Amino acid sequence: MTDFTGKKALVIGGSRGIGAAIVRRFAKDGAAVTFTYAGSHDAAQALATETGSTAVRSDASDRDATIALVAGQGPIDILVVNAGVAVIGDALTHDADAIDRMIDINVRTPYHAAVESARQMPDGGRIIVIGSVNGDRMPFAGGAGYALTKSALQGLARGLARDFGPRGITVNIVQPGPTDTDMNPADGDFADAMRGFMAIPRYATSDEIAGLTAYLAGPEAGIITGAMHTIDGGFGA
Ligand code: NDP
Repeated sequence: MTDFTGKKALVIGGSRGIGAAIVRRFAKDGAAVTFTYAGSHDAAQALATETGSTAVRSDASDRDATIALVAGQGPIDILVVNAGVAVIGDALTHDADAIDRMIDINVRTPYHAAVESARQMPDGGRIIVIGSVNGDRMPFAGGAGYALTKSALQGLARGLARDFGPRGITVNIVQPGPTDTDMNPADGDFADAMRGFMAIPRYATSDEIAGLTAYLAGPEAGIITGAMHTIDGGFGA
């Protein structure tokens, strides 16, 4: 448990998977949570009802919509940018627009959302982006574009930690390894290969990722900033 009573949290991309686990965890721990979604309307509404949180449809590939959404929230104590997509496959035959859309969602949105949130964020606030261990290690072909986006977040955290550190605002990246979600099911076609890269050969649960995220958002983590927090069963070891 982390006591988030009185805290206001915004989770960008919270309708499913890791984002939904973060919404559940923060709401259970007392935060007033708003989360965004794009396509999963029914799942978002069900999660909002279950947790007492607020669901807002907002496409994270739309920079201006994201900036307006964050600005419209007023001061938020905790920003989590979780929305992400993975375009995996042959680099030579990839659709260029799909790669650029991935860069929009995975890189541009976290940057602009983080900066916008900091305008109104109280001192001591928290900015957390869900990256990936693939920002450190890409041990299979076809993941260059995805790895590019997750490595970029490392520079985001290091730089914005400097910008906002004087106000006690921390900026951190959570870097999961294989985690059982729609994006990467533990019984999917690639799952055995993924487990083969791990020291502990099992997929993480979304709740485990949410637990680390809650720690970084909590009162014990006030001196942790500009850092990458890998939670991957040793995938990157
Ligand atoms: P899922 O595909 O299961 O869920 C993705 C979530 O992001 C959904 O809630 C989805 O909402 C939201 N989302 C995606 N695109 C948009 C968009 N354009 N606008 C708003 N919301 C959007 O993914 P995971 O839970 O597995 O992944 C979450 C994060 O964790 C991602 O950043 C991913 O890169 C990262 N990650 C995942 C790993 C894994 O093994 N699962 C490993 C390492 C990192 P909706 O359905 O409503 O569009």
